Amino acid sequence: MQKGQIGVTTENIFPVIKKFLYSDHEIFLRELVSNAIDATQKLKTLASFGEYKGELGEMRVEVKVDKEAGTLTVSDHGIGMTSDDIDKYINQIAFSGAEEFLNKYKDTANAIIGHFGLGFYSAFMVAKKVEIRSLSYKEGAEAVKWECDGSPEYTMEPTEKATRGTDIILYIDDDNKEFLEQARIDALLKKYCRFLPVPVVSGKEQEWKDGKYVDTDKDKVINSTEPTWTKKPSELTDEDYRNFYHELYPGQEDPLFWIHLNVDYPFTLTGILFFPKIKSNLEIRKDRIQLYCNQVYVTDSVEGVVPEFMMLLQGVIDSPDIPLNVSRSYLQSDTAVKKISGYITKKVASRLDELFKANRADFESKWDDIKIFIEYGMLTDEKFCDAAMKFVLLKDTEEKYYTLDEYRTLVEASQTDKDGNIVYIYATDPVAQYNYIHAANEKGYNVLLMDGQLDGHFISMLESKLDKTRFVRVDSDVAENLIPKETKKDSGLTPDQISLLTNLFHSQVPKTEKCDFLVSFESLDPAANPILITQNEYMRRMKDMAATQPGMSFYAELPDNYNMIVNTSQPVIARILEDAQKALDEKVGPLRATVNSDNEKLTALRAEIKDNKPTDEQTAQEKELLAAVDKARKEQETIITDYAATQPVIKQVIDIALLGNGLLQGRDLSEFIKRSIALL
Ligand code: ADP
Repeated sequence: MQKGQIGVTTENIFPVIKKFLYSDHEIFLRELVSNAIDATQKLKTLASFGEYKGELGEMRVEVKVDKEAGTLTVSDHGIGMTSDDIDKYINQIAFSGAEEFLNKYKDTANAIIGHFGLGFYSAFMVAKKVEIRSLSYKEGAEAVKWECDGSPEYTMEPTEKATRGTDIILYIDDDNKEFLEQARIDALLKKYCRFLPVPVVSGKEQEWKDGKYVDTDKDKVINSTEPTWTKKPSELTDEDYRNFYHELYPGQEDPLFWIHLNVDYPFTLTGILFFPKIKSNLEIRKDRIQLYCNQVYVTDSVEGVVPEFMMLLQGVIDSPDIPLNVSRSYLQSDTAVKKISGYITKKVASRLDELFKANRADFESKWDDIKIFIEYGMLTDEKFCDAAMKFVLLKDTEEKYYTLDEYRTLVEASQTDKDGNIVYIYATDPVAQYNYIHAANEKGYNVLLMDGQLDGHFISMLESKLDKTRFVRVDSDVAENLIPKETKKDSGLTPDQISLLTNLFHSQVPKTEKCDFLVSFESLDPAANPILITQNEYMRRMKDMAATQPGMSFYAELPDNYNMIVNTSQPVIARILEDAQKALDEKVGPLRATVNSDNEKLTALRAEIKDNKPTDEQTAQEKELLAAVDKARKEQETIITDYAATQPVIKQVIDIALLGNGLLQGRDLSEFIKRSIALL
């Protein structure tokens, strides 16, 4: 019998493995099954080159739980090991400073396992003793038994073993009894081994008998050995892809479409990415892309391997070239990984382009579901953005879809402003903004629908990418002014009339802390509404952004500013002005004359003072005049306000405008209804 010390420089590596790898200790099973699969594949390869001439027999891997004996056994019929092989591969763990290394990477068990050929030793995370029984494929080989109880000492001796291959027997320790439960093992095998290329059996198939599940004699095969992504796309039907999707993510809706990845240079990568239906939710999905290494499940934390926006996709990526067993920060800086990420981006973009070109109607029908993905990609990935400029679609309020080029051609003639900018008009809520959309359409303008979660950012991005292009929300101004064509038409009123109207309307505008209304007058289409309420594009964007981004609370706290544009050409407004002039001229006229003449005096006085002595101080005379102006103004205001209060039609036209914008609520709304009935 051979006795020896396992070749590590650290006194005892096993307690270290146990301690630091504790959280992830379930991966021991992945490691052991992977080794068994490797051993099987190696023998198949040798056989195919004629280097092994014996019978292959049934090449499957078995995982057996024996609760009574307290053991878990992984068996294969692969190449097996001679005592020399065990010496070379198991006894010589060729690295130094194990403890130091483990300390450094203690956050990721994966970082150590595998990376330093420690796969086999991960068994000691759950076992107090490990036994290897192996018979090599080599002619005349002698079966060997190796045993180790977790100290660096092992024993190795010849043994009896009838069949070729290796049994790894774990004597599960008391802290890890869970791994003696068939259900727990089933779950782990399902997680890590479901697509392994060699059949893995564990436990028995069950059947429903006499009110409960009982074992049959049939071995339960865990995996499908030829998962869809390993097949040629030309051999697969749409049905195959859908079935595979449902196998990966049971209970989900059909995917919209998929991309079959297949590269062998400059790295090897296969996989299938699925586009699920993403409505408006950007939350990180539970059912994420799974990463495999030669069909062994590794992780579904694919950050760094695929670009961030691809995290919205589902499916599998399989590559032996991704250094899976290293820490994440290392992964992100790895050039191979960067190349892979770039490749996936390119592939996804070109596939989308293909789909768009091959069947535009189909692409359009799926657009609403993939829009958030494409916008997210364009916003976060420069390369994807460039590629997507060709197939990203804009949808208008009539549900028509346009590419960026098509849309530009469509609106160029009618929607270019006086400075040569093409103005894209958009709505965010076709119901609430119906009036504005209608008015813009009447003017021959097209209105885009931008109601997506990312559309705000997307608009800013398009403005920076598209030459001489500006976006305005449909309610940011009256239709006439959305696209400034020439200098604005003025209201056609005298300053006195404007001051009267301002007073009339201002006194009747609702006063709240949350909203400010700025009243202005314009002579618009007589058929348009008497009052239009708009919100400044810039302020609105700032407030929208403030709502989602920290550090912008300044904007969030500002009241909502609205413009109340009174259409002086509208007959109702014209009549309000006429009536007010008739009713008020007698009382207000003299006051206005006083204000005007006092103001003139004041101007003259100030000119004089300035010439003589430059001082900021007000003279007594100046103060007196100012007070007189102020008094006359206030009187005037009171008279007009009192009058306005007796004219329900003013409040009525204001309320109609507020109502049209969803700004009339609660008591104001019920008063409006009462007033309307009274007016009828
Ligand atoms: P790695 O698999 O990363 O090389 P391991 O510690 O898991 O590291 O295994 C070390 C070596 O032991 C393997 O490379 C292989 O040569 C040998 N080995 C492990 N398990 C088996 C097995 N079931 N059959 C044959 N050889 C095995």
